[in-house]
Amino acid sequence: MARQDTPGTETDSDFGLLIDGQLVAGTDMLDVINPATGQVFARCPAAGRDELDRAVAAARRAFPQWRSRRYADRADHIGRFCQALRAKREQLASLLTMEQGKPLRQSEDEITRATTQSEGLTRIAIEPQLLEDSNERRIEVQFFPLGVAGIITPWNAPINLAAGPLTSALYTGNTVILKPSPYTPLCTLKLGEIARNVFPPGVINVLAGGDDLGRQMTEHDGIDKIAFTGSVESGKAVMAAAARTLKRVTLELGGNDAAIVLDDADPKAIAPKLFFASFVNSGQVCMAIKRIYAHERVYAALCDALVEEARKARVGSGLEPDTQLGPIQNREQYDRVLGILDDTRRSGARILAGGVVPRGDGYFIPPTIVADIDEDSRLVREEQFGPIVPVLKFSDEQDAVRRANDTRYGLSGSVWSADPERAAAVASQLEVGTAWVNHHRATSATVPFGGAKESGIGRVYSETGLKEYLEARVVSVLKSA
Ligand code: NAD
Repeated sequence: MARQDTPGTETDSDFGLLIDGQLVAGTDMLDVINPATGQVFARCPAAGRDELDRAVAAARRAFPQWRSRRYADRADHIGRFCQALRAKREQLASLLTMEQGKPLRQSEDEITRATTQSEGLTRIAIEPQLLEDSNERRIEVQFFPLGVAGIITPWNAPINLAAGPLTSALYTGNTVILKPSPYTPLCTLKLGEIARNVFPPGVINVLAGGDDLGRQMTEHDGIDKIAFTGSVESGKAVMAAAARTLKRVTLELGGNDAAIVLDDADPKAIAPKLFFASFVNSGQVCMAIKRIYAHERVYAALCDALVEEARKARVGSGLEPDTQLGPIQNREQYDRVLGILDDTRRSGARILAGGVVPRGDGYFIPPTIVADIDEDSRLVREEQFGPIVPVLKFSDEQDAVRRANDTRYGLSGSVWSADPERAAAVASQLEVGTAWVNHHRATSATVPFGGAKESGIGRVYSETGLKEYLEARVVSVLKSA
């Protein structure tokens, strides 16, 4: 494809798959759409079965040498990779904004977060555990890497959601095949390009491709583990496919997070935080607030304060400096969110802010606040993954907890109150992987994150998360021969 004159237009030759330390073409090409314009702005190679086989063979060849290195040595490689990422932050951020849609500042934050979390992970020591050391015997649990990890990521935060599993796999001595979503392949291919200058050939392989390529990874005999981040439905398919070879799986899946606002909370003070945690990345965040349960004493004031936030929010192309909320990332998701909006309107719920979708080619939906909605509506039951959030009323705390837990999801949730300990007691009743008090959507390298119920299996970050990439081996020594 010839280079076009449009600023920021990429050419085919700007991207390559990373296999065995080489940037190569694929069997196919992917068109990549800028969601702010609805137009294709780049093409990149896509891998087929042949490239997957070659990448797996390279990762298997690289594994014995990589696993034999010390943790400090692998941490040093990851540190140099992070430095190189930071050096390319501006270029990567604008590419991320063009393919994903989020505002430029948030793209930069995503890259910064990916590097700080990665560096934080490599400061966690993994030591053998001594269970017994008596005159008769010594029993120790040792940890060894699984082999080749297949990492599959979604389109909402492609760099950050690659970084956690990638660093965890590499630091613990595994080699990697990384596959981004076909909607957002470009930054991940750039990560591969950067990794090529830091890691030995075969340690990291990056393949762009569609759902079929993901399926082939989950079925591949040469892959030992799948770290999957995506929807519940795909996560179930991954687990079923992985069963044939008993691959280890980590599943980071969808959520329908509830925020419970108690009667003593200050609506005006918390509204900006609730709004941000609901609408950042236009609601396309696994752990975004997706339902707000407010006590009847604060309900009206909270609705007013949220409406004020929604009216202030600037929606537009992520490349515009003032934009706070970008478009929905892809047409399919845009149509899905519009379908939920239509159902909501037809149900007779009150739309307090937003709800009117601008005409044009970009996939824009303004932040939409909905009140007086039925508990059985799609907006409450399903993961909307878009900028439309229901505010529901309760009068009894236990009823709020019951309704918050009445879902197949269990990713995270939060409780808001003037009395943090009172809120913590309520938070302890949520059936989730993380329950925050007076904040929402905070992760760090040292704190395990993951889903309860159908929101996932396993954890990312912390020693617990690192051990998802390790097998435990007991060595039991009888001291008398
Ligand atoms: P998706 O499940 O459609 O796709 C995710 C990735 O899986 C893509 O790379 C896709 O090509 C691949 N894939 C699809 N079907 C597959 C299969 N059968 N086998 C192997 N790979 C397959 O999800 P999405 O629409 O890209 O992402 C949105 C979803 O991801 C939301 O539900 C969101 O909540 C969830 N998510 C979860 C987390 C978390 O940490 N829990 C983080 C971000 C997003």
